[in-house]
Amino acid sequence: MLRLILHALAALILTLLTQIGGVAYLFALAAARICGLRRFPAKLALFLLCYAAATVATQFAAPAFGRVPLSCMAGAEDRLIVHSPIYCALNRNYITPKLRDLAEALATHMDQQFPGTVTVALDANFPFVNGFPLLPHLSHADGKKLDFAYYYKDAGGAFLNGATRSPIGYFAFEEPGPGEELPCAGHHDWLTTRWNFDALQPLFPAYRIEEQRTAAAVAWLTTEGAARFGLQKIFIEPHLKNALGISDAHVRFQGCRAARHDDHIHVQIE
Ligand SMILES: [Zn+2]
Repeated sequence: MLRLILHALAALILTLLTQIGGVAYLFALAAARICGLRRFPAKLALFLLCYAAATVATQFAAPAFGRVPLSCMAGAEDRLIVHSPIYCALNRNYITPKLRDLAEALATHMDQQFPGTVTVALDANFPFVNGFPLLPHLSHADGKKLDFAYYYKDAGGAFLNGATRSPIGYFAFEEPGPGEELPCAGHHDWLTTRWNFDALQPLFPAYRIEEQRTAAAVAWLTTEGAARFGLQKIFIEPHLKNALGISDAHVRFQGCRAARHDDHIHVQIE
């Protein structure tokens, strides 16, 4: 009985993390039983094989369901990159073709304005099923949401191409200065994904947001992005929006229950 519960739990966790991992796990479990595999390393290898095969097959299957993968294998010429291969290994890199076109056009625009600049994509969506959220982003559930990293510079002001402050691309927050707008001051929601990770903050390098590129990207998104690709909303933390001098109505605050957006930019299309 305990074994059954553990298997169910493993399948559930893999489903939440990768969407297709749970199915791959159950398939591998059945195959191991049929083949009489008993040793853990053999079973693990079988699972990894099933998962890898399912991940590759998904790249070909997902377009039939309206989502395409952003590639994690960027070449030297590519100006749009996914932050880490882990995003693709976990199937967190799927978006609608229209949103992919927007992301590529943004990266091209940034490269034209600031030659050589690389635009970094973070979490997108899972490959299948509308309404299946990519945790912890509850809204990333329909292929129409994509997070981008901010553009950064080092403490001396030199642009850091393709760099993020945190190794996973998230959770290295820009702290609002004294007197800046604090929309969630005094809120103590227990049901929230607005985590501050205070203890982690000193571990991240002291990069700062490169205002010129970041403001240019937002300006393009709110004009060309809206007109040509149906950009609907951008989430940026209010203190950054003010610092970057953004007043466009597409750029909004996500509310105090959603994650902070001073470590990444959230973009969604209609
Ligand atoms: Zn997002």
